[in-house]
Formats: sequence, C-alpha cells, structure tokens
Amino acid sequence: MVSGVDMRTVYFSDTTLRDGEQMPGASLNIEQKVRIARSVVEAGVASLDAGFPACAQTEIAAIQRITSELPATSVSALARTLPQDIDKAFEALANSRPDKRSVSLFIGTSPLHRTHKLRLSVGELIRVVRESIEYARQKFPLVAFSPEDASRTEPEVLCQVYTEAIDAGARVIGFPDTVGVLMPKTVRTMLKMIQDNVPNFDKSIVAGHFHNDLGLATANALAALEEGVPILQCTVNGIGERAGNTAFEEVALALALHGQEMGIQSPIDTTKLWELSQLVSELTGIPLPANKAVCGGNVFATEAGIHQDGILKHPGTYLPYRSELTGAPSVRLVIGKHSGRSAVSERLKSLNIAMEGEDLDRVMEIAKTAPKEAWVDDAALLSSAVAVVRAGL
Ligand code: MN
Repeated sequence: MVSGVDMRTVYFSDTTLRDGEQMPGASLNIEQKVRIARSVVEAGVASLDAGFPACAQTEIAAIQRITSELPATSVSALARTLPQDIDKAFEALANSRPDKRSVSLFIGTSPLHRTHKLRLSVGELIRVVRESIEYARQKFPLVAFSPEDASRTEPEVLCQVYTEAIDAGARVIGFPDTVGVLMPKTVRTMLKMIQDNVPNFDKSIVAGHFHNDLGLATANALAALEEGVPILQCTVNGIGERAGNTAFEEVALALALHGQEMGIQSPIDTTKLWELSQLVSELTGIPLPANKAVCGGNVFATEAGIHQDGILKHPGTYLPYRSELTGAPSVRLVIGKHSGRSAVSERLKSLNIAMEGEDLDRVMEIAKTAPKEAWVDDAALLSSAVAVVRAGL
C-alpha cells in the first residue's frame, strides 16, 4: 500500500468537445458545448481540449465562449502542423488568460500516414514538426505535440520525432493510440521504450490518449497511469470516432476504487459522474447502452431473484459500490420472469401493500406473465395485487 504522500495526482484533459464531438451524429452547438465544459470542470477536470479551430468558424466562437465563461480553466485548441491552423488556434484563444491557453499540434507519424496520407519522408516530417512547434511557440506559452498513430509508428522513428519535438520546444508530448490497437502490456512496453530512448524526455510530460476499438481504452489508460503518464485524455461516455475514446467516468471510478493501490490520486468528484453522463448523452443525442459500465441504466438494476434477495439483505452482496458514489439513482429491483418473492414483497410494501403466503405467490404469477418486453412497473404490480385481493373476497 502506498502512503498518501507518495500519491501522484492524475491530470485529466477532457476531449469530449473535440474528439468526442467527432463521433458521427454527436454535433453540439455553442450553448451545449459551454454547458458540457462547465459540468466537466465542476467534476474536477482541469483542462479542456475544446475544439479544432481550423475546421469551422463556429469552433472558434465556441472556444471563445468557453474561455470567457471559464477563465480559470486551461483550454487547448487542436491544430495541424500548419501555420494557418496555428493562427486559427490563436484566434480562438487570443482573449483567454495567457497562462491558461495552449495549442496541440499533431501530424501522422506511422508508415501508413507518412506514405499514403502525407507523402513525407521521415526527414521531411521532422522538419515540419520542428518548424510548426517553433512557429507555435511564438504565439503560445505552452505547445503540445502529438504524433498521430503513435502506436503504429516504428519505435526508432517515434523516439526521433519526440526528441526533435521536445528540442523544438514542445512541453507536452502526446501518446495517442489513434486506432485503438494497443493492449495494456504493449502500452507499458512502449512507454518504457520511449522513456529510455528519448534523451530529453524529462523536459516534457506525456498525455495518454486511447481509443476503444478493442474495448481496452480504459485498461490501456490505467496501464499508462501506472507507467507514470501524468495526463490522460478522456471523453464523457467514451464518445468519439469509431468505438470511441477512453470513457472519463470509467477511469474516474476505477481510480476512486483502486487509486490507493495504484499510488494515484484523482481530483474527480465521482458523485457528479451520473449527472454529467446524462447531460452528455442528452445533448449529443447518443444514448448509453443499458449495460454500459458506470453510468448505464442497468448498473443499479437487477431482475434476478437471487440477486434481489441478496441485495435486500445487504446491498454489498451483488453490488461493487453504492450508487451514491456516482450520484446514480438507487438500486432498482425490476420485477420480471426471474424475480423472487422478496423483491415482489418489497415492492408491494413500497406501495403500502403487505402481502404474504399464497396471495404473494398469486401476485407473482400474474406479474411474471406480463409482456416480456415490459418490466412490471408499479401500476402493473398494483393491479395484479388488486386482482388477487378481489378474487379472494
Ligand atoms: Mn483520438
């Protein structure tokens, strides 16, 4: 067990408004972006990756609104390694507090990106990286650089690019698993390799960025944190390109439950997670699967009789943590085919009906024959109880 003094604090950078919004169908207007930004900050996130100014004038307007409403929050704008992109990022952030603004430059570094997308040799790519960082430094006190598709970049090229980027003045270097192919073990190996082979590594700090194509974005993010990565980029509900990004609420909850043993402290107020998740789902119009980890609708619902009976005797029997931890609604005992007597009797009690013995059995029989697609709600249960009582009169 690590004592409190040795704990490192993880620094969350939220990219719901940038990478998250790149999810097909997730477009947000300025008002909605501001609401999400505010809620994310209220939950304890210190930095926002708030948009890609070069792609639309509305991105610039949104970033300007966010920085004027949240002046104490660090806000970063994304830019390709092009002067015109950096200028647009500056336009978006020109009125923000200088100590709170930064630009995040990116360029693809993997062979696929170099050969097919950029048509650049490694030497040419490095020149572009250096020149763009030097240009950005004239306008921004903090420049971040991210080698897109880092996870599929040859180790020697990746380390060379990082070395040059840091030398040119990048103080944050991104480690993006752009297409979500890494495993927790390879995350660790790559991070160790980078640390050992980038001579000026200690002049920068690393920001991890993972995608969920293999369902491993959270596991990979936690592996990176354990490997010493201080900044983690996440999106609320894991929204993002393809299978999405690392889900903020999943990492925040994992750290609330396991941070102590990992030696990592989280600044996140987990009691805000449920509400934040609902807000992002509502504003983006992207519903959460019922079984989604942490904020899915079924996380505190159970229909199985054995589980219901256990939970009624002690909630800990079939729940990993209490709903209060994430601000979720309390346990919901769904009455259905798999339910048992204790849940049905408990629900009847909540409706002020005390029933036992054969009467309870008959209510259960009626309840269990309810249409499969509809859980038995209170009204249905009540009418079953009334039918039983009437039949007995
Ligand atoms: Mn991404």
